[in-house]
Amino acid sequence: MNFHITPSGKKLVTVIPGDGIGPECVESAMRIIEATGAPIDWEVRHAGASVFKQGIASGVPQDTIESIAKTRVVLKGPLETPVGYGEKSANVTLRKLFETYGNIRPVRELPGVKTRYSGSGVDLVVVRENVEDLYAGIEHMQTPGVAQCLKLISAKGCEKIVRLAFELARAEGRRSVACATKSNIMKLTEGMLKRTFEAIAPEYPDIQAWHIIIDNCAHQLVKNPAQFDVIVTTNMNGDIISDLTSALIGGLGFAPSANIGNEVAIFEAVHGSAPKYAGKNVINPTAVILSAVMMLRHLGEFEAAAAIEHAVLVTLESGVLTRDVVGDANAASTTAYTDAIIANLGKRSANWTVRDYKPIRLPQVSDHPVAVVPKSRRVVGVDVFVEWPGDPASLGRSLEAIAEGTPLRLKMISNRGTKVYPSVGAITDCVDHWRCRFVLRDEHNGADLNDADLLALLQRVAAQHRWMHVEKLPEFDGQPGYTKAQGED
Ligand code: NAP
Repeated sequence: MNFHITPSGKKLVTVIPGDGIGPECVESAMRIIEATGAPIDWEVRHAGASVFKQGIASGVPQDTIESIAKTRVVLKGPLETPVGYGEKSANVTLRKLFETYGNIRPVRELPGVKTRYSGSGVDLVVVRENVEDLYAGIEHMQTPGVAQCLKLISAKGCEKIVRLAFELARAEGRRSVACATKSNIMKLTEGMLKRTFEAIAPEYPDIQAWHIIIDNCAHQLVKNPAQFDVIVTTNMNGDIISDLTSALIGGLGFAPSANIGNEVAIFEAVHGSAPKYAGKNVINPTAVILSAVMMLRHLGEFEAAAAIEHAVLVTLESGVLTRDVVGDANAASTTAYTDAIIANLGKRSANWTVRDYKPIRLPQVSDHPVAVVPKSRRVVGVDVFVEWPGDPASLGRSLEAIAEGTPLRLKMISNRGTKVYPSVGAITDCVDHWRCRFVLRDEHNGADLNDADLLALLQRVAAQHRWMHVEKLPEFDGQPGYTKAQGED
């Protein structure tokens, strides 16, 4: 990665102070970095609430984008997400604008921070895919009463995040990577991460690789978190379990993160802007400080990073703790805590060590949009989604009549994924959103459904029914590229 070097030989970092408690946390981290003497210079830019108030709907102004494109490295405070329709989260926008596909969230047990897991040796990293999945934010109202969010997972996205997880494990000298998915239910999307993981794992024989269903992963994390080392997972799973893992070590005040891309990296706390504490000098800045430590390692400043991590451990061990850990009485203010860390730079704890880090080798995956080329492909049918206020049997009879004389026949209708026509005797509380599956008739077995026949059918359906979208039913290399409804043969 090409960092921007200033005329005085320093590495330039874009700083976004953020909203709520953001500016206090970021200032604390900047003061500590400056005290180490690391060759870092700052370019302050803005995003989030103040920018939305100026009427910039993305929450990210052009000069912030330009600064990041130049420096390639960002230290960021939390940004408030606007509540309501339309405006997108500026956090998600920043992550997606710069393709920071990997979200790395380490947690480790810390001295002086008592939790019910103290002494168990929690020290793990969640590697969360950061730009795909339900967070691609592609949502549509299908009917006035039914909403849809597309869960998009790509083979390329899976390869990048899986390789990043294994490379991180190597760089940090970790022993295992667990892949946590819901592939048992979402076989194509979540299953793609599992299959990619299984295909790539043999390239890392020095690292133990295993798969775990995400709900059991949550259960095991609460039961015995020390069994985990690195966990790689999809975007939403990772969002949820990384908040869980932060609670294992004392809460959001201690959970750092890095958003890693091949061009840009953004370092920020897992926590949000906690507006009720803004400007009160009471919050815990450790999460942003440890995010800044990750940033220093990313910039190759390993010595300064280790010095800060040691100083944080020494400070916590000495009992200088913020309000979130010890309550109001005896709490150090944000600034007093920061001063204590600065005073402890150069000291080392006798009881707590810091890992030996090597630079992460970022995965090099082709930037060509096509990641998979099948040897054969064809379309075997089409799902037509219809808004219908009535019962499934009358819709079914109507669609069967519509398909008569065409190469397609109605195979079944499902409602929210459960087959309701022909009836299998299920007791389903239906809504006005029906997936009507048409497949090529037996006499066309082995054929490829052409667009003319598909559009002719759609036109016939449209003459009598309100449809809202269609999905082709593809087959790649003889394998169905779609799943069956519950109850479908
Ligand atoms: P939050 O800001 O993380 O705060 C939730 C609670 O966590 C706080 O009330 C506080 O707990 C505790 N907490 C968080 N950070 C702390 C710190 N540094 N020191 C001490 N305690 C801390 O979550 P939220 O209230 O759900 O979200 C507030 C806003 O932040 C929302 O607009 C949200 O969208 C946004 N957000 C931004 C990011 C980001 O920028 N990456 C991430 C998450 C949320 P107690 O109340 O128990 O003291």
